[in-house]
Amino acid sequence: MTTTPTHPREATVVEAAPKQLLIGGKWRDATGARTFDVEDPATGTTLCQVADASPDDALAALAAAHDAQADWASHPPRERGEILRRAYEIIISRREDLALLMTLEMGKPLAEARGEITYAAEFFRWFAEEAVRIGGDYAVPPNGAGRFLITRQPVGPALLITPWNFPMAMGTRKIGPAIAAGCTSVIKPAHQTPLSMLALADILREAGLPDGVLNVVTAADAGGVMEPMIRDPRARKLSFTGSTAVGRKLIEQSAQQVLKVSLELGGNAPFLVFDDADLDAAVEGAMQAKMRNIGEACTAANRFYVHADIAPAFSDKLAERMSALTIGRGVADDVQVGPLIDAKQLGKVTDLVSDAIAQGAQVVTGGQAHGGDGYFYTPTVLTDVPEGARMASEEIFGPVAPITTFTDEREAIDKANNTEYGLVSYLFTQNLQRGLRVSEALDTGMVGLNQGIVSNPAAPFGGVKASGLGREGGKLGIDEFLEPKYISIGGL
Ligand code: NAP
Repeated sequence: MTTTPTHPREATVVEAAPKQLLIGGKWRDATGARTFDVEDPATGTTLCQVADASPDDALAALAAAHDAQADWASHPPRERGEILRRAYEIIISRREDLALLMTLEMGKPLAEARGEITYAAEFFRWFAEEAVRIGGDYAVPPNGAGRFLITRQPVGPALLITPWNFPMAMGTRKIGPAIAAGCTSVIKPAHQTPLSMLALADILREAGLPDGVLNVVTAADAGGVMEPMIRDPRARKLSFTGSTAVGRKLIEQSAQQVLKVSLELGGNAPFLVFDDADLDAAVEGAMQAKMRNIGEACTAANRFYVHADIAPAFSDKLAERMSALTIGRGVADDVQVGPLIDAKQLGKVTDLVSDAIAQGAQVVTGGQAHGGDGYFYTPTVLTDVPEGARMASEEIFGPVAPITTFTDEREAIDKANNTEYGLVSYLFTQNLQRGLRVSEALDTGMVGLNQGIVSNPAAPFGGVKASGLGREGGKLGIDEFLEPKYISIGGL
């Protein structure tokens, strides 16, 4: 059974978090003072209510972003960067409370929430540094007549939509480059986890962000508030992180105003273990790639392909590690596996495992929900998972590791690439040539070569195929919020 420990500061941090809409620098209620509930996934109880925006509230937020755009674009890059830097410092100084707030609304264990707070803050530090490095070009054209001047300007008001699995980092990865580039924005966090984003917006105000540069809209009906903004000519940019199904819908909606679109969508990461791999390192990498965020990560290893000669040893060692994890409400320091986000996600993981077992998969450990008041699922290792099982093609988004085998490199690559997704892949081998050869052959935007975590604010994060468009973080992240302008100079 799962116990439900409490934390001495949990009521305080929930109480302190803003719960209204942030529009034009003012916190205000939604029209009609409507609210929706925020739930603790570890207990299924309500933590608090936050404002439930109407479409008119959303358009008011877009109007505020639009009105602030020209002034914000004219702020010196150094000032924009210094606001981000101050926000970085504040986030780090309040890491404990922010982590607790995140654990309460999202469920991840405190240690992981602390890790996400640091990761989230690092995007602000990175983009504080990038704000002053927005370059341009000055060139002599091939015929020598006149000159070319190329400058890069903010694209304009941006609409940002984030998922629940990394409630703060998915926001700072968009807000950081938007602020650095000189774009104003309206952000809509996921309905399950609005509190972390509202707390972040308050920190940015404290750091000196002018009114209207960041507006926050929380809503129970995401489509109802987003579509009017996406179709409004005052918006110029859409940056979305979430499922591929919603991403496809948003591309269609964005076509009307021809928005500049960036999308970080779903994944179905393959994890390849070759027979020349360091087995312990591969198991450690598998634990990170599978169990980070309770398996609820777009980068989560979704399919394990292990060379037939080492598959029994790999699955036994992985099962031993998975079954030793402590499950519970994440506010307790010794907990390693929190609940899934909600009843729907628990139902999905349960169905995917039942489907795989019905098709012949063997359970090495786990294989069922964990019980308790919240949405807990037992860490699970399955072997002999057939290619026809639903989990071979669908994101599991839970602590379940399905293992199948291969016998040669080509087969491993073909199986890994046999998906519409292309976010990240992982491979373990001690042969450098093989490592680079296979890395180049994998159809994904990112590869973890002998490592189970690829995310880094200084690196370009993003996918190919149905996993998305564009990159976040690294040197490329700010480009998504800039447009080049070419000025042709005559008379020279
Ligand atoms: P989701 O259902 O697509 O929701 C993501 C966000 O979109 C939420 O804020 C949601 O609001 C909003 N949304 C839902 N329907 C919408 C609509 N019709 N119009 C506008 N916005 C809408 O995804 P999720 O289940 O929250 O998140 C998990 C997915 O995100 C997974 O597929 C995961 O792989 C992906 N993800 C990708 C990355 C990446 O970088 N590639 C990172 C993290 C997660 P509500 O919450 O109010 O519904």
